[in-house]
Amino acid sequence: MPVGREASWALYRGPVKLPEPGMQGDYHEACVICMRGTDSGMAFVGPAEMVVAALSVLGVPDDEAALTAAAAWGTPPGTGPHGEFTTVLRVCQDCAKSSPFKVGLLVGPTLPTYRW
Ligand SMILES: [Zn+2]
Repeated sequence: MPVGREASWALYRGPVKLPEPGMQGDYHEACVICMRGTDSGMAFVGPAEMVVAALSVLGVPDDEAALTAAAAWGTPPGTGPHGEFTTVLRVCQDCAKSSPFKVGLLVGPTLPTYRW
């Protein structure tokens, strides 16, 4: 299973209405779109632009998609790593169902992986 980095997405999501933080007091386990806790997601293998594009398709506003992706990678806003790499996004089923992407459990062998 690919391993990706997750970040505190909520920092980059502007004035959206957030649900109460989980037991840990943060949004670490939250869907990157709606901020509700979820154990599902998908992986992307490809360049940084692919992940930003995927976030847009999933419903993150264009101006926030690059910031959200940079938060996941731990790079300065608007930038990303070079080359091809794996990024795991935590996304709930509700948010993914209006996109072409399928979600699977983050822990286990069934994580859907999309390649550029
Ligand atoms: Zn969601």
